[in-house]
Amino acid sequence: MDRISDQDVLNDSTEQVSNDDIQNGGRARQFTTKTLELPCNLDEVVKTIQSAKNILVVTGAGISASCGIPTFRGDGQFYSTVAREFNLPYQHAVMDINYFKEDPRPFYKVAQRIYPDNHKASLSHLFIKKLEEAGTLLRDYTQNIDTMERSAGIERVVYCHGSFAKAKCTRCGVEIDGREIKSEILAGEVPRCRRSQQTFNVCELTCMLQCGGVIKPCITFFNEPLPEEFHETFQSDARRADLLIVMGTSLSVAPVSYIPMILRNIPSIFINVDAVPGSEVKA
Ligand SMILES: [Zn+2]
Repeated sequence: MDRISDQDVLNDSTEQVSNDDIQNGGRARQFTTKTLELPCNLDEVVKTIQSAKNILVVTGAGISASCGIPTFRGDGQFYSTVAREFNLPYQHAVMDINYFKEDPRPFYKVAQRIYPDNHKASLSHLFIKKLEEAGTLLRDYTQNIDTMERSAGIERVVYCHGSFAKAKCTRCGVEIDGREIKSEILAGEVPRCRRSQQTFNVCELTCMLQCGGVIKPCITFFNEPLPEEFHETFQSDARRADLLIVMGTSLSVAPVSYIPMILRNIPSIFINVDAVPGSEVKA
């Protein structure tokens, strides 16, 4: 995920931001917003939301934490726990595409922990659904792969890092519905492709060979590009958005972390447990 270049995002922005801006900002972490001066009271926040017509929402693991889904970052959290548990060579190996190609077993041993099953949407998800019902949700750009948005009934959503909704064979490339590998995921097993590759006759019996390749959910692993949908949709949404709401994310993964900087000329509201880099407001 980190491999996406600064230019990928800059090409999509509604205004050109120089590479110097990015570098000086340290991956968009030190810019300051020009709008929504000191939103120190709730009334002002409510008024801002009510007056917006095209709200672009960016969400992260924080809005799913109350659903019982582990957050992915921080010491003692998902990656570090799994790395210790399976003695992995580095912290993010469990969701690094290069390591997955070598050994998909650790991912499938833990996939059931993050699989969207038996979880209920949080109040944050329902708030976004309310925006959609009010006709003011331009788009929800979620970094989460848990598809809780679907549980909440949100339709105007882009899964920036993919989701479990679809899966793909790493050998033959066939795409399948993610539900087809649900039983293997919940059992902690590596799902294999059952696509017929070859049929032949032996003694009047028709035999069939299956592909047998490892199936991978269509979630974006480290060192994989983001889905095209993200770039295509954001290009037009960035021109229309009149309010940015960032919820439950520390904005530490590019290119989603660049969005507040690209949209820095519209009002923005940051809702997170910890201070979000770039959310400081200076007059
Ligand atoms: Zn296959």
